[in-house]
Amino acid sequence: MQVSLYTLGCKVNYCETEKLKAEFEEAGFKIVNSTANKVDIFVLNSCAVTAKSEAKVRQILNRARKKYKGSIIVLTGCCASIKRQTDFQLNNVDIIVPNNKKQELVSIVKQYINTHNLLNTTPPNSVEPGIKAKTRTRAFLKIQDGCNRYCSYCIIPYARPTVSSKPLAEIKQNILQIAANGYKEVVFVGINLLLFGKDTNNNLLDVVEIAAQQQDIKRIRFGSLEPEVLTKELIQNLARQTKFCPHFHISLQSGANKILKAMNRHYTAEEYSDLVKLIRSQFKNAAITTDIIVGFPGETEEDFNESLNFVRLQNFSKIHVFPYSIRSGTKAATMPNQVDSATKLARVKSMLKLAEAAQTEFNNSLIGTKQTILFEGKTKTQLYYGHALNYVKVCVRSQKDVTNQILEVKITSANKDGCFGILL
Ligand code: SF4
Repeated sequence: MQVSLYTLGCKVNYCETEKLKAEFEEAGFKIVNSTANKVDIFVLNSCAVTAKSEAKVRQILNRARKKYKGSIIVLTGCCASIKRQTDFQLNNVDIIVPNNKKQELVSIVKQYINTHNLLNTTPPNSVEPGIKAKTRTRAFLKIQDGCNRYCSYCIIPYARPTVSSKPLAEIKQNILQIAANGYKEVVFVGINLLLFGKDTNNNLLDVVEIAAQQQDIKRIRFGSLEPEVLTKELIQNLARQTKFCPHFHISLQSGANKILKAMNRHYTAEEYSDLVKLIRSQFKNAAITTDIIVGFPGETEEDFNESLNFVRLQNFSKIHVFPYSIRSGTKAATMPNQVDSATKLARVKSMLKLAEAAQTEFNNSLIGTKQTILFEGKTKTQLYYGHALNYVKVCVRSQKDVTNQILEVKITSANKDGCFGILL
């Protein structure tokens, strides 16, 4: 039977989809992409982070039901966890698998097939599947699940309330598989990496050290981080790890303390700024990227300008800007002084303008420097592209295929999206 999987949302979801693909394959199913003529099972790994994400889930389910007539439609991920079955049109979904049952998804599908006499397949395989990803350059490894921080705008703690960390022995096994599969870079991801190791008495340095021991793993990164995870001790220890990439994605969300408090974030703008300074003192040319929400309930023009000015001073190399979006079931959804759409849009535009200028400035600062690039593939314009250690995208022209090679490049020009260079 042919299975097509579609993913929305965060890196954790993408990581889990890769695991599901491997599990389906282990169980005798064939993975096909969404353009295949025949799809027997369609799995949507959904995201519920904003109201827009949920609308997209409904749209994809509607489309899948029409396109894959007679196939089994499976909904998993956060929408499957926070919504009752009746919230989704039942004729668009056959099976709903919440996050806490995701590891059983393949056997749930097999059970469904058997009980509906659709087809008998091979028995479930209990072997932990390999870690796969779209390209054989960078592998995302999920090491933590769940969040109990209850930021006032976020639905995740309701969708993934159980906090758990992957044991170190299992992480070590996964790293061995990743290296054996030919990947050169590993990115550790989690729903909230701040909580990694709280239940297993480990910390993020442990996982970096494990990965660094594997000769074939050349580069190590973290996914999105909460500011509080980066203690002075951890930063100093990471700076001593030669394979650790100097790129930190640290969620700020707002540069105004009043808004950070309303968001139930657990740091002040000053603490965040001190952290940025500390990272820059330990890592030469560190790239710091972030997420910002604009138009949070109660955000006045003054608060927004405070946030804008704060962001301007941090010299971020990339900023993801999101207009606040109401998530029913969260505290922020019932807060007074919701910001109207037009104001949110205007604030998104202002913040994006700043983001583009900051990105361009950072990329321009690399002109003339030598960067080490892990090449990932070819663009439509026949340039090879990859990422530098600081995660800036770099393109070069080359006669030979340089995919999955780590090569030195001299940066010759830049724009807001990345850099161009010549192979050395
Ligand atoms: S830290 Fe906050 S924003 Fe991140 S998952 Fe937890 S509750 Fe959501």
